[in-house]
Amino acid sequence: MNGPGRDALLGGVALGLALLALDRVGVALAAPEAANPAGALAPPAPPPLEPTATAAPMAGLTGTQPPRVASYLMHARLDAPAHRVDATETLRFVNRSARPLSELYFHLYLNAFKNDSSVFLRSPFGEARGNLRAEDWGYIDVKRCTAPSFGAVDLWPSHAPGSPDEPDDETDVRLPLPAPLAPGATLELELEFSAKLPSIVLRTGYARDFAFVAQWFPKLARLEDDGTFAHFPFHAQAEFYADYGDYDVTLDVPAQSVVGAVGRRVESSARGDRRVERYRAEGVHDFAWAAWPEFHEVDRRIAGVDVRVLFPAGHENDVSHTLDALGFALPRSSALYGAYPYSTLTVVHPPEDAAEAGGMEYPTLIATGGPWYSGLFGDRGIESVTVHELLHQWFYGLVASNEARSPFLDEGLTSYAELRTLDARFGAGSAFDGFGLTLSVASLERAFAAARAEDMPVSSAAAAFPSFRTLGALVYSRTATVLETLARVYGRERFEAALGGYARRFRFAHPTPGDFFDDLGKSLGPDARRVLVQALDARGHVDFLVRDLQNAPERPPAGVFDRPGGRETVPLASPTGLHFRARAVVLRHGDLELPVDIDLVDGAGNTRREHWDGHGALHVIDYRGDAPLEHVVLDPEHKLLLDDDLLDNAAAARANPCRRTLERATYFAELALGLALP
Ligand SMILES: [Zn+2]
Repeated sequence: MNGPGRDALLGGVALGLALLALDRVGVALAAPEAANPAGALAPPAPPPLEPTATAAPMAGLTGTQPPRVASYLMHARLDAPAHRVDATETLRFVNRSARPLSELYFHLYLNAFKNDSSVFLRSPFGEARGNLRAEDWGYIDVKRCTAPSFGAVDLWPSHAPGSPDEPDDETDVRLPLPAPLAPGATLELELEFSAKLPSIVLRTGYARDFAFVAQWFPKLARLEDDGTFAHFPFHAQAEFYADYGDYDVTLDVPAQSVVGAVGRRVESSARGDRRVERYRAEGVHDFAWAAWPEFHEVDRRIAGVDVRVLFPAGHENDVSHTLDALGFALPRSSALYGAYPYSTLTVVHPPEDAAEAGGMEYPTLIATGGPWYSGLFGDRGIESVTVHELLHQWFYGLVASNEARSPFLDEGLTSYAELRTLDARFGAGSAFDGFGLTLSVASLERAFAAARAEDMPVSSAAAAFPSFRTLGALVYSRTATVLETLARVYGRERFEAALGGYARRFRFAHPTPGDFFDDLGKSLGPDARRVLVQALDARGHVDFLVRDLQNAPERPPAGVFDRPGGRETVPLASPTGLHFRARAVVLRHGDLELPVDIDLVDGAGNTRREHWDGHGALHVIDYRGDAPLEHVVLDPEHKLLLDDDLLDNAAAARANPCRRTLERATYFAELALGLALP
């Protein structure tokens, strides 16, 4: 999901400047390698899950293959006037844990919009994107759930709340099994459900005849290796977590609908006043789709990927910005974080009255967004959201950490990668470039992180943050600031190689924060690991400061000296004025032991650089030179984006050096930026 506020800010900057001048049950309970007798199952109405010789072409997943733990075969019919999707779902699930399972957990995310008792509607509101609250309720009714291996009995009536602490919430459901599912065994379930879409609310729902159908089907919670399900009520600040599988979804929509969906379209045929489209996606962990009669479409092939862009009339300018961003970011991201393995990427630009559906990621499908005048006044809003959602293909799609438990692993890493991509593409004006002004994403992220730096761990669970703004400041912006600081300190190439290594090693896996810290620590060393853990997991911070700069002219040696020729007493002489000695103290407040560069500038304008590894409480500068030491400047190349206070990063021997003024100006600019945030 896109971060809070920044796009609004950029839009405001741009606009402001512009104004001045912005059916049944098939049961298969068997060891995975044991073939079921072909005749054991009555053939279900839908096509088989496994591709066969007659099945549609593969969606084109190349390279490493993920385990297929939960695969879905669905037939869905959109009743457009009723804003309802009626569907059947065949779910094939493999118990990959070492424990027999006596129950399953399902997420029924649409029930978040069913009534005011849901955890979602009781979550912090009003500060995030849009108004969040639907004007028309949304919900999902599971009408039947059978498993051929358990006979014809409907299992669904025995379901219970999945989170007993939240008995009124219907988004997390526990389904007891009539008999345990052995380790390694496969269970096939058949469900029938009806999904009533809410009016558009935070990424899903309808607006007039536009529908974004996300989080819409009974979805199995992820089974962790220890045999427990990672299940949770749907919280407004949290996202998702699921196992990989193959999706084969047939969509039956009004004939005039233009559909964008996860995966590759393998069939499309007209049937009277309806059209049926079938999509296949291999090795993904979610499926979403959008349908709208008024979509325009532009197709491009970018870096070997078939890209479809669906957009409203009048947004051609946005499409050119979107394609430019993808043309740059797709090959770059593949090179850095491992090749994009799917053959398609669909980009949905929702209509303006459904803008809340924008800025969201699904496997092989991203929702961008922005006004028709995006970029015309120098803002990078649409590039930012497009690049952000694209990068989620890696940090979410391909590296599938638990977004509810550890949102920094997807949103934070994505925000860092977005920062880098926009910087590589646009340089100093990566966030804004117009009217003679430039603004970088790095400075924005630093300001956002500083503006709302509530003192809680960045690695907290999504629901633990007191507001989405706090989550945004810490999970998105502070993570990006931490990682950008490490990249500047340890070297850009080395850091990108470390992050790319993590993305490759954990492709199609579900890493935890510990995995992330350990993996980057192996690449960057124990000091960097310690900084990562303290900054992200333990509220660590840092502020370097320098004080007590004092010069003294060096005098010739004086005193009583025993020489070979006898004792000599040398009187105190006047200073020669030719040699100077100076002292200053560099302090590190906070517990992030980052190394820092120190520039010593003398009165003749010469600069000498020292380096402190950041260990210990302080570092004493002992200067000797032919000119007095005029200035001490910490972190002259601004590597330490994490430094809390820039005002104290310089000391001068005399009052009123222009450098001091410059530092103050920088500081107040940062401060003003913080106050300007909505
Ligand atoms: Zn995001």
